[in-house]
Amino acid sequence: MNYYQILGVSENATQVEIKKAYKRLAMKYHPDRVGDDKEKHEKFKEIHKAYSVLSDEAKRAQYDRFGEAGVNTGGGFGGGFHGGFQGDFGDIFGDIFNDVFGGGARGRPQRGRDIQVQIELSLEEAVFGTSKEVHIATRVPCSYCEGTGSEDGNMQTCETCGGQGRVRLQQGMFSVQQTCPRCQGSGRMYINPCQHCGGEGRRQETRKLSIKIPAGVDTGDRIRLSGEGEAGPLGAPSGDLFVDVRVKPHPIFQRHGDDLFCEMPIGFATACLGGELEVPTLDKPVSLKIPEGTQTGKVFRVRGKGVKSVRSNRTGDLLCKVVIETPVNLSAEQKELIRQLDESLSKKSKKHSPKSSSWLDSVKGFFEKVKSA
Ligand SMILES: [Zn+2]
Ligand SMILES: [Zn+2]
Repeated sequence: MNYYQILGVSENATQVEIKKAYKRLAMKYHPDRVGDDKEKHEKFKEIHKAYSVLSDEAKRAQYDRFGEAGVNTGGGFGGGFHGGFQGDFGDIFGDIFNDVFGGGARGRPQRGRDIQVQIELSLEEAVFGTSKEVHIATRVPCSYCEGTGSEDGNMQTCETCGGQGRVRLQQGMFSVQQTCPRCQGSGRMYINPCQHCGGEGRRQETRKLSIKIPAGVDTGDRIRLSGEGEAGPLGAPSGDLFVDVRVKPHPIFQRHGDDLFCEMPIGFATACLGGELEVPTLDKPVSLKIPEGTQTGKVFRVRGKGVKSVRSNRTGDLLCKVVIETPVNLSAEQKELIRQLDESLSKKSKKHSPKSSSWLDSVKGFFEKVKSA
């Protein structure tokens, strides 16, 4: 079963629907409620796993794209990729279980938010890898108080939660406990908050970051840089940075998976007589033999001149589609030569033009059928 089926939601389910489905199932299968029923314990683990992925848009996108492999391994991608599932049971329990069951565990400062940026690459950059500089408006640890949020480190019991680290709210049928917003769950607060960051332990800054792009990425790929997101409050861990890749169109090559595709105009004479052509590739040109009598539309495959996949390490091919160019701006003399050639060819048209002969036969057959009908 896939994660959507486990939760009984559609693949377009909103976060609200996912959360609702999870709550409903968790009420039914939570170990506190089902006693020693091993089967239900297993079921609950499944439900929890599915929820931990689908409730996180970044992990969900990874899952939609790569399936379980995308969220189970710590990597799988080469280079700067950090695919994956870094599910922290604690986070999810903190988030939902306290909602549902009024959990008693004392919370802790929440990690900083994840950040998402998009970068545009040329085809060459995407194929060979590159390094890109980005500017990100984010929050960084306050250097004055070193993220502690305090001027001097002297603490007292939090006034908001009375040292509990959590505050309780009534919400419909649930009694909801939340991490205390004042002390971020620690139960203690500083007597003298840092003047530079207002006691938050972090401040707004535009960061300049150089991002290493591994060779072989394509539009839709996402690179995860762990810990490069927003700094958490009061020295809590930072979120992650997600870099979404978009590859700009190329004037010569189109990419289909790991293969590159291009159209290659060849002269009328080369098409008739055959020859050798220089074909561009993303690095250096290669030579390609054109056999005698080549037709428009014929595709030649140049092995290993495509893209090296970031996932499988396989290298794709270059596919060149022949387009025969009709000569233009002919002089009277050239036209005369063509006429002579045509005359010579039309004496044995079946032999010289296999395509038009079989096409003409089909057309004739078609009209006869129409007439007899
Ligand atoms: Zn508090
Ligand atoms: Zn500070």
